[in-house]
Amino acid sequence: MEYKARTVPLELQLFEVLHMRTDLGEKEMQNYFNLKKGYEGELRFDSFTNELTLDCLILNDLLLKAGNNTFQIDTLLIADTIYIYEVKNFEGDFYYKDDRLLSQSNYEVSNPLTQLSRAESLLRQLLQSIGITTSINSSVVFVNPAFTLYQAPIDKPIIYPTQLNRYMKQLNSVPSRIGKKHKALADKLISMHLTESPYQQLPEYEYGELRKGVVCRGCGAFIDTVVGLYCICRRCETKEAIREAILRTVQEFKLLFPNELITTSAIYDWCGQLIQKQRIKRILERHFKHISNNRWSYFE
Ligand SMILES: [Zn+2]
Repeated sequence: MEYKARTVPLELQLFEVLHMRTDLGEKEMQNYFNLKKGYEGELRFDSFTNELTLDCLILNDLLLKAGNNTFQIDTLLIADTIYIYEVKNFEGDFYYKDDRLLSQSNYEVSNPLTQLSRAESLLRQLLQSIGITTSINSSVVFVNPAFTLYQAPIDKPIIYPTQLNRYMKQLNSVPSRIGKKHKALADKLISMHLTESPYQQLPEYEYGELRKGVVCRGCGAFIDTVVGLYCICRRCETKEAIREAILRTVQEFKLLFPNELITTSAIYDWCGQLIQKQRIKRILERHFKHISNNRWSYFE
């Protein structure tokens, strides 16, 4: 049972919006692509763990701290043993040599086994500090069906795409019954979860350099046609109620500029002056709390 849901990382959310509104540099595009791919891999692994019939608690995406060390766990499963998984969505041919993982063009990627053993060790320290001695079983999972590892070591805790179904079946046959102490441990770990990652490298951007407008939810193009109560995309013909489109665009604004006030003028400008101010004002009034005094008028 999923006990802690996975959410889209902030970095990835920002990139999703930014790549439509600005031209990302090559390095940023690569970063965006990697984040997206990694996240898709995690969702793919979730589609397997969600099907488990084993009585267990699944905590997705934990960021924890043991002493001064921060570590991340893609998936942690609590049963009578604690299982942790480092999920990788690598695609293509790789080979393993002297504890290193290299792509076919000899490009070295961080060895996930090293990341995994660090996470396991730090998790053990953290558990010890709260008096828990449950054993930990950890694995690296390669989820992409188009991944091949040459010279793969057979004595390492790796689950390959072709083994995932069988692995899950085996896990289902492990006797397990979740009780109070398992729940207490899950709650404890969730309470220790950090929300701001020291690893995250948020992209830099400024309001002035971003393209303003309403982005089509269907294809990502900027909308230039409003008919009656609808925004219409001329590229893909997606039709969306203005209200929905505005609220979506306000969410983007809030995500990118959490410290800016939401005012009618700000949103009017952010939407590329496509929709009348009066209409924006009415929508904001209906969906946000209007705060108004002598000096300010804004929405929360
Ligand atoms: Zn479109």
